[in-house]
Amino acid sequence: PAAGAGATVATLRRRIAAQLAASCAGEDDATPDLDARLLVGHALGYSPTDLVLHDRESVPPAIERTVEAWADKRAAGVPVARILGEKEFWSLRFALSDGTLVPRPDTETLVAAALAALDGAGRRAAPLTILDLGTGSGAILLALLSELPRAIGIGIDLSEDAARTARRNAVALGLGERAHFLVGDWSAAISGRFDIVVSNPPYIAAADMADLPVAVRAHDPHLALDGGAEGLAVYPGLFDSLAAILAPQGMAFVEIGAGQAERVLQMGRERGYDAQSYRDFAGIERTIQLKPKAA
Ligand code: GLN
Repeated sequence: PAAGAGATVATLRRRIAAQLAASCAGEDDATPDLDARLLVGHALGYSPTDLVLHDRESVPPAIERTVEAWADKRAAGVPVARILGEKEFWSLRFALSDGTLVPRPDTETLVAAALAALDGAGRRAAPLTILDLGTGSGAILLALLSELPRAIGIGIDLSEDAARTARRNAVALGLGERAHFLVGDWSAAISGRFDIVVSNPPYIAAADMADLPVAVRAHDPHLALDGGAEGLAVYPGLFDSLAAILAPQGMAFVEIGAGQAERVLQMGRERGYDAQSYRDFAGIERTIQLKPKAA
């Protein structure tokens, strides 16, 4: 472009990346280049991977100003997902709100574990029922429904705001007919038996809450994080409730935090379930599967 013309995609994303790199110097999990591509791409309607194909296009000044305002928020510590109000999970786009945790890549481990177990049992195409306890944005339930053509599911959340957001996501993903969302206290609000029960419950120990990265501590709902004194407060009640809500051939998949596998597996086995763990991409035991022992 001629001298004096406005920014191109390339110059804008490089400038934003440099700003973000400077603002997060010293943070080892910082991703300034990706963040810049997400912000510029979102403003222009391009995916972060496609964006470089548009590097030579010029950016309208109003969009440039929008991106600059977003970058200032990011530099001040607000996560990209909160600035844009959305996050990709299982290659699907989820809208977020104050009552929803930002879906984490780690949680794709749970989705993959459930699908692998169903494949192993030859039940992937079966007419399954799924219950998601603490559904948040609906990420786990809706990712599963997107892979299981004959499944239907219910997501429950204590937060009315979360249930509303999950419903919106179901409709936007074309899954509105097969997903239903309720506000309530988990299984206390439900009767019936389900083939698959899933949950990413709060599991951060009280002592660790203050040490969470600011992106989590200041922007994710504490209801979705705070797992009591040792982070394990929710699992006993959750596992006890399975006796009434799991179908005879059913399986439950729950997320856990780093270092919690041994004790949560034990809680499952004490209640008479076969229990096993699945590791996430970092090699951390992240998902626990429970199923009733074969008679
Ligand atoms: N994985 C989240 C974190 O570490 C915690 C989510 C949860 O407690 N379920 O921030």
